[in-house]
Amino acid sequence: MKSIIVLSGKGGVGKSSIAASLAIAFSEDKRIVCADCDVDASNLSILFSLPTERYEEWTPLSTNQIASIDRDKCIRCGKCIATCYFKALRSEDNIPKLNEFGCEGCGACELICPAKAITLKDIDNAYIGYSRTGYGFKIASAQLLPGNSGSGKVVSEVRKKAKEIEPDAELMIIDAAAGIGCPVIASVTGNDYALLVTEPTPSGYEDMLRALDIVDHFRIKKGIIINKYDLNKDYSAKIELFAQEKKIPIIHKIPFDRAFVDAMTNMVPIIDHDKDFRKMFMDMKKKIEAEVIDSEK
Ligand code: SF4
Ligand code: SF4
Repeated sequence: MKSIIVLSGKGGVGKSSIAASLAIAFSEDKRIVCADCDVDASNLSILFSLPTERYEEWTPLSTNQIASIDRDKCIRCGKCIATCYFKALRSEDNIPKLNEFGCEGCGACELICPAKAITLKDIDNAYIGYSRTGYGFKIASAQLLPGNSGSGKVVSEVRKKAKEIEPDAELMIIDAAAGIGCPVIASVTGNDYALLVTEPTPSGYEDMLRALDIVDHFRIKKGIIINKYDLNKDYSAKIELFAQEKKIPIIHKIPFDRAFVDAMTNMVPIIDHDKDFRKMFMDMKKKIEAEVIDSEK
């Protein structure tokens, strides 16, 4: 199964909308599956008008542990409190008390405790499952529970889930989170192609460079989409010049168009909302195919 990741470094550039329409374009002649790896703000299914109530599966997931203290065994030495880097433990009546939201489950307190009074216990930190779009393909998604950590591990579970629900898919399309944090790194590794979506603004450009560093670290072939390119042609030219110097193909320059906003408001993927956009996405699909699939023939 080939995999393409769509990422941006910056939120709000249209990454998920572009991933959704590209998925539809690819699904017209390929068996595909999507993985929504933005586990802090899962939204790919929403773009297909699929709230979690309509998912085919949505179950608790545990990828994290937290400390559990046996008060009867504790000899009140305070070593665990001094050891916890995350300051998740404090003394209350000389007994350590855990702030569950602060605990990262690192296990240092368990190791240091001379009375073996601390053990790590599994906790549910997310929900995971999948939905089926009206276009026939499935989307694996997860949502981290409020205040919980471990997004990188949850992303790995989403990618696993996508393979599990569609083992015969030819192509997986991954919608990454914004930024360059742990969930993005967990989403980028091991892909065949990275599609960087940016917009012609100073932050769009700088954040694209930061995302590019991750893609280059994992030596993944890549291309760039400039969304709303005509809103700032000088900055678009700067991005194009950069791409030219680095020999990164510009897969497409998408103009700003009210139709994009209308499509989002109506929860219809833009490829199905406007015939000009459909042409654009079919063209992008062809170019990406040439980069990812045909180049290996
Ligand atoms: S498991 Fe780690 S983060 Fe949690 S209380 Fe123990 S030392 Fe602190
Ligand atoms: S290290 Fe163990 S014995 Fe010491 S205060 Fe913490 S829980 Fe109690």
